[in-house]
Amino acid sequence: MLKTYSHCIYCNSKKLIKIQKQKFRKNFYIETIMLDLNLSEKILRKMKVYKCKNCKILQNNPWFDDHTLRKIYANIYGQHNRGWSNMLNFIKNKKLPDHGNVYNLLIKNYKIRSYAEFNNPFTGLFLNFFNNEFSHKQKFFKNYFKNNINYLTSRQVVEKSTLLKKKAALKGKHFLDSIIKFRDIKKRKICKKFLFVDNSSLTWGQNDNFKSVNSKSLASEFFDLNIVDINSVNYKKKIDIFGIFHTLDHTFEPKRILDLALKISKIVVVYAHVDDNLNKQHLFSITPGFLDYLKKNKIYNVNLTKKIQKKFKSPELYFACSKKKLYLKKLSKLI
Ligand SMILES: [Zn+2]
Repeated sequence: MLKTYSHCIYCNSKKLIKIQKQKFRKNFYIETIMLDLNLSEKILRKMKVYKCKNCKILQNNPWFDDHTLRKIYANIYGQHNRGWSNMLNFIKNKKLPDHGNVYNLLIKNYKIRSYAEFNNPFTGLFLNFFNNEFSHKQKFFKNYFKNNINYLTSRQVVEKSTLLKKKAALKGKHFLDSIIKFRDIKKRKICKKFLFVDNSSLTWGQNDNFKSVNSKSLASEFFDLNIVDINSVNYKKKIDIFGIFHTLDHTFEPKRILDLALKISKIVVVYAHVDDNLNKQHLFSITPGFLDYLKKNKIYNVNLTKKIQKKFKSPELYFACSKKKLYLKKLSKLI
């Protein structure tokens, strides 16, 4: 059930130092995991927090093994509540996810023709981009959302007769046509969107559903975006801005993801929890010291946390980074 790590999950260094004060705190997530997996507190107390001397991240060790994680992220917490809440808040109340003024900073300072995010489609800025592309009233968005859900559920026909399957296919096409019609209205203003995925066992995916529709399927229609497997990336394609919102610490290959994002885009914006106590539902947490490590490795960065006018409910970190200083010039001026 547990796996022991001999190296840092981010930089692969073996210099993991056990921190002195170890705290074990239960929370809603931990309690449900314990309940469903029939885990004793003793097992969870075996997990200790280490700090990497090289890249400064905090890491739990030992931590849940791969099989257990699949269960946690596919079954116990299959639905990513925060992501879906963002989507439903937008549809019901036109409320956008709270990232302070990150979106405004980006569109004011950069010409963004293409934008990508990683793994979770509803935790970042896709809704902001989408909202900016359409000047419609709330009713249109509600209908558009409904048509997306109806289109995708109309393709779930396993127990239907041949006749009903045919009818469902026509009905589905009708919903799809209205989706496409809506999208076309202001085509010229639309920026190209991509969702990169790695299908990690450390993230929500196969069961991240609402009304039996998967978040990635909905996102690909709703935002009209392309889903790209990170293993099949065409490096010649450049992306203006790449956002990693709450997903850098939800993959087993965080360095590979950040390096890839830096390679194919001008600027990468990262949003992450900063969890000093590192609760047991997280494998690792980046720290402000991580930004110094990036700088040492020629990944230039600007800490945006205090510059985005967001009221934080828990410690979080926002930063922009790039391989070229030039791209960060405008953002650096804010500091
Ligand atoms: Zn490290």
